[in-house]
Amino acid sequence: MSAIVYLGGTFLPVEEARVPVLDRGFIFGDGVYEVIPAYSRQPFCLDAHLARLAASLAAIRVANPHSDTQWARLIGEVIARNEPEDQAVYLQVTRGAAPRDHSFPAGVSPTVFLMANPLKPVPAEQVENGVSAVSLPDNRWLRCDIKSVSLLGNVLLRQAATDAGAAECVLFRDGFLTEGSASNIFAVKAGALLVPPKSNLILPGITCDVIVELARTNAIPVAVRPVTEAETRAADELWLSSSTREVLAITALDGKPVAAGLPGPVFRKMHALFQARKRALAAAPAHA
Ligand code: PMP
Repeated sequence: MSAIVYLGGTFLPVEEARVPVLDRGFIFGDGVYEVIPAYSRQPFCLDAHLARLAASLAAIRVANPHSDTQWARLIGEVIARNEPEDQAVYLQVTRGAAPRDHSFPAGVSPTVFLMANPLKPVPAEQVENGVSAVSLPDNRWLRCDIKSVSLLGNVLLRQAATDAGAAECVLFRDGFLTEGSASNIFAVKAGALLVPPKSNLILPGITCDVIVELARTNAIPVAVRPVTEAETRAADELWLSSSTREVLAITALDGKPVAAGLPGPVFRKMHALFQARKRALAAAPAHA
């Protein structure tokens, strides 16, 4: 069965979905997106994803085309129409199609697109051994808080990591840790979790928020504050988080082991807490 997507009011097979070439998402990367994991067909942290979507839309001055209730219904429907039990729902809103001109066009409606990809389980090997990362200067723009489809900076950074045989990059700007190309990054020092604060320089990760909340409610000390490059390099543990990778330990940075080169005890505790949170969702869905 081919994947069923939603485009501008219609559900249809992905091969049949077409957008006009003058769509500003295609011409300018003028749009925003979300990726929402669904476990056992239940969207995880849906309210938080919809709040971040609303913030991204407001930042690019596109009127939100749907209420949260309408979004929840559309997301539920795209999940229902696709096969896997665990899915990654991708949702994109662009400013719409118009003759090419940088200024906003008048009177166009946004293009709304949703698809649901299979959510691959995080490989057990990566959980057990961690992943490697490379450090790179964060050379992206200064509005990394907007979840924009203009991802060229992130794409080039991720490819540099891939070329180096690494799973992710750890980005530094002006001597401080920002995030990864598609993940948030954390450090652990002396048992405490160090989390870069939300700002225009990083994406406010939904998984990051879950991790901070789980740490706070489970007696793991948390400091949300700027983390220097030196602190990052001297950390006892480094982690990455994202909606599709959950939480993983970074056990090598620039080819050198992070501390002992194995996922640390705080990571193991957090990973277990995160899995329990996912299971609780499947047992008691927030959105029926
Ligand atoms: N930062 C960036 C740049 C990302 O692309 C992502 C993944 N969307 C994240 C952080 C993690 O965000 P989330 O936990 O909401 O997936």
